[in-house]
Amino acid sequence: MSELRENCGLFAVYDDPEAASLVPLGLFALQHRGEESAGIVWSHEGVLSAHRGLGLVTEALPPARMSQVVAKIAVGHTRYATAGGSGLHNAQPFLASTAKGQVAVAHNGTLTNARKLRRELESGGAIFSSNSDTEVILHLVARAQAVSFVDRLKEALPQIEGAFSLVLLSGTTLVALRDPMGFRPLVLGERNGKYVVASETCALDLIEARVVREIEPGEMVIIDERGLRSERYASKLKVLPGETPRVAPCVFEHIYFARPDSNVFGRDVYLVRKALGRELGRLHPAEADIVIPVPDSGVPAAIGFSEQTKIPFDMIFTRSHYVGRSFIQPAQNIRNLSVRLKLAAASNVLKGKRVVVVDDSLVRGTTSKKIVALLRHAGAQQVHLRISAPPTISPCYYGIDMPTKAELIAANQDIAAIRDFIGADSVGYLDLPAMRRAVGYDNASQFCEACFSGQYPVPVADSQL
Ligand code: SF4
Repeated sequence: MSELRENCGLFAVYDDPEAASLVPLGLFALQHRGEESAGIVWSHEGVLSAHRGLGLVTEALPPARMSQVVAKIAVGHTRYATAGGSGLHNAQPFLASTAKGQVAVAHNGTLTNARKLRRELESGGAIFSSNSDTEVILHLVARAQAVSFVDRLKEALPQIEGAFSLVLLSGTTLVALRDPMGFRPLVLGERNGKYVVASETCALDLIEARVVREIEPGEMVIIDERGLRSERYASKLKVLPGETPRVAPCVFEHIYFARPDSNVFGRDVYLVRKALGRELGRLHPAEADIVIPVPDSGVPAAIGFSEQTKIPFDMIFTRSHYVGRSFIQPAQNIRNLSVRLKLAAASNVLKGKRVVVVDDSLVRGTTSKKIVALLRHAGAQQVHLRISAPPTISPCYYGIDMPTKAELIAANQDIAAIRDFIGADSVGYLDLPAMRRAVGYDNASQFCEACFSGQYPVPVADSQL
């Protein structure tokens, strides 16, 4: 139901004869991180091949096709478009042949200096085949002078800025790394003694792999015939001697993006969301008869709100799981029915009730307005909207598809105006300290919270603002 989109999920398997079948399974568990395209690159005897397609993982990577692939190493990617468009030419992993061999890259995040780098590379003669910021990384690796793939990558990395969890493959060497601030998650797992890499732990659970550990911000994990080793790479981030580098994992992963059964940045997402709901109940209780979530992502926060306020929790909404992408942009004259395609409210339960409806974010406000209207139409006497996050006041430049500042309702309106626009009886948000308490950190230097504070941990070029 959200108006926000995570942009990518990554999954890789090393030294397993079932690699090409396991990668689509892992991506299936990461489907919430990208529904527009999916792809896989596999390595057989050191030669890389690719298959990419549009749509859901099961459409883009058909099991019958994947079961025929012979490979022990494979990297997969599922995506929404953020930087670049949504066509097949932007589907990842990208695979390129360079003078020093083939290289594949799969990226979760957004490079904040991609435009500048692309201009420089193009003026030096580079030809791009996509609109994606990720292709810049391939060009930088291709131009690096070092002999080994890992050393060429180390030459390229100090030139890029922003958010990047990456999985790269060349020959039989797999590299998984996070940017120095660790915006996006990436976790190392193990299955039958073989290594697996995934954006979220829920993908490891699906293939019965165990979590080894998170890959750390600024860490590069290299897996090859010699085994696994971990290295730190040089970056653009300047850290003075004796200074602790600041990290900026995305707090919105906990609020909305990650799957609730994942453990992200060392915290169980489901438990954090319940804690966000309890904080919300403390800050903005309401005189109401029932608490209901906007499914699915609002459910844990609504349970937490109910626990805190002792207002009974109920699942009033039935969510349709059969709305295909063809329905997402219906004709203009029936577009206002789009929420009804996805949600139906049990009017016999709602009639005459004072309702608290809990959602995880309020972006433009247009979806919430339709949900409130739907509840009133179904007979609710009062509707109190509660948001388990602080007001979203600034766009994300680190890998989340978010409207411009002019479109973000909380960036331009006060609470009373938002309430009136939405048509609710009251609206309540979390504040920053309550959000930090629920997630379990103390101050703004431990997480990225830029979309709530406007304080960007990595500078964003004027051209991108
Ligand atoms: S700006 Fe918001 S959505 Fe983007 S990385 Fe920071 S916290 Fe996450």
